[in-house]
Amino acid sequence: MFDVAIVGCGPAGVVAAALLGQAGHRVWVCDRLPGVYEIPRAIALDHEVMRVFQQLGLVDAVTPFTEPFTPSEWFGVDGQLIRRMTMVDPPYPQGHTPSMVFTQPPVERALRAHLAQMPNVQMALGTELSGLVQDDTGATLSVRDADGQSGSVRARWVIGCDGGASIVRSLVGIQLDDLDFDEPWLVVDVQVNDRGLARLPKTSVQYCEPQRPCTMVIGPGRHRRWEISLNPGEDPKQAATPKGTWALLSRWLAPDEGTLWRQSSYRFHALVAQRWRAGRVFLAGDAAHMQPPFLGQGMCQGVRDAVNLSWKLGAVLQGEVQGLAAEALLDSYGQERQAHVRELTGRLKSLGAIICERDESKARARDERLLAECGGTVRDTPRQDVLPRLSSGLLAAQDTTGRGTLFPQPCDRDGRLMDEVFGRGWRLVLDGQLPAPIATGGLTLIDLAAAPERDGVVAAWMQRHGCHAALLRPDHYVYGTATAPDDLQALLAERHAALTN
Ligand SMILES: Cc1cc2nc3c(=O)[nH]c(=O)nc-3n(C[C@H](O)[C@H](O)[C@H](O)COP(=O)(O)OP(=O)(O)OC[C@H]3O[C@@H](n4cnc5c(N)ncnc54)[C@H](O)[C@@H]3O)c2cc1C
Repeated sequence: MFDVAIVGCGPAGVVAAALLGQAGHRVWVCDRLPGVYEIPRAIALDHEVMRVFQQLGLVDAVTPFTEPFTPSEWFGVDGQLIRRMTMVDPPYPQGHTPSMVFTQPPVERALRAHLAQMPNVQMALGTELSGLVQDDTGATLSVRDADGQSGSVRARWVIGCDGGASIVRSLVGIQLDDLDFDEPWLVVDVQVNDRGLARLPKTSVQYCEPQRPCTMVIGPGRHRRWEISLNPGEDPKQAATPKGTWALLSRWLAPDEGTLWRQSSYRFHALVAQRWRAGRVFLAGDAAHMQPPFLGQGMCQGVRDAVNLSWKLGAVLQGEVQGLAAEALLDSYGQERQAHVRELTGRLKSLGAIICERDESKARARDERLLAECGGTVRDTPRQDVLPRLSSGLLAAQDTTGRGTLFPQPCDRDGRLMDEVFGRGWRLVLDGQLPAPIATGGLTLIDLAAAPERDGVVAAWMQRHGCHAALLRPDHYVYGTATAPDDLQALLAERHAALTN
């Protein structure tokens, strides 16, 4: 019997398997395809995902396939700059470049190679899930391998990471809520030659043009991505032919200036699963949600799911939490992630509404409004500012501004990152202004008075949130904050009660 069976070895599944494997659990993970999907879909990742790769020891393996995300300049009806999305300035809060572009297939290959080295993780590639039955102690998965041989696998817990058309989701009868976004776009990846590169913009661009909203993203190396909205009456199939695609690209490139890597017509949706858990089965990644492409958050959201769920499942499997507390902990996964996905999707839809305004007079009014809002001079907006914090779930009752945010990862004076020095369990971080509590209930104590940081990242965070202590969960999200010794004692007691009642 495996501890966890994971269906789907895309970005969400491979990260969940790697984290659970790293924690020593017996993991079985399958994918119906024998190799990674060789066509890039996600092109953006952020520092939160890189911090997860750091945990897995994969930063060096992944970095060659990443580059910093160039600023995205948004241009209005008359080609004027109306918004500029950038990164926060150094010192970087998570210890990594805040937004990156990357090449998906080699990054997925690096993750799978890492899994292949884990003796407690069994990868079944070319193996498709066809059925699933649950009982009180586990679930039995019916599978078919590449030779058509049927078999079964038994596990205590199951995670469906099998993408947008998830069979796991259907088998456990979970429905999707439609958050009302349904747009046909052509997505084109091109490897551009020197002549083409010389002609192309040097930043990523959002063309907020009513005749045809579109995006150009500067990917790693010669990779450039276009997302081009299709107009009513346009045939998505024709647009995705080489001839149709080059016609749509003619504004930027001629066919002798690049090689089409892939071009596909997609309908971008905003969908979220109504429930994220059915008994012993959880959904994660695209199986649980799909969001509009603006800001490139799809894969990041799937990795957030995998991280959130894997430490909670790990705690239950280790017996650290039992009974009602375990149920509450596992239920908090869907509660937290669903609320976060809904909130972020709403924000992405608002960005989409700005980008995709099709009425010219409304688009002009939008341009005027955006410029008026910044006093006529476009200021940089860090992409990360769009991300919401966790708002419900395993969080302290007192809603402070720091609660539910991703805590920074400072460097110590020797340049070592916090997670490398202190590990990743439950941690209490003090900024040196509060006495360390006598009993921390098994938490790792990080007192900046004793272990000073190099760049003042945590000091700035504490100041911004008006506190002197932060209680961190294993996924680096802030359970709660405190400003005085009494608050801190109450916070520690609240966390203890939440995990033991
Ligand atoms: C055009 C496009 C552009 C995108 N751009 C971005 C971006 O810029 N940034 C970003 O973060 N995200 C982006 N995304 C989204 C991103 O690709 C997905 O969010 C991400 O790949 C989802 O990961 P996943 O692991 O949940 O699912 P998937 O990557 O879909 O993986 C699911 C896996 O499950 C397997 N599977 C399915 N059914 C079964 C079965 N029955 N049995 C066994 N295995 C099965 C599949 O073979 C697949 O490998 C984009 C998506 C598209 C379509």
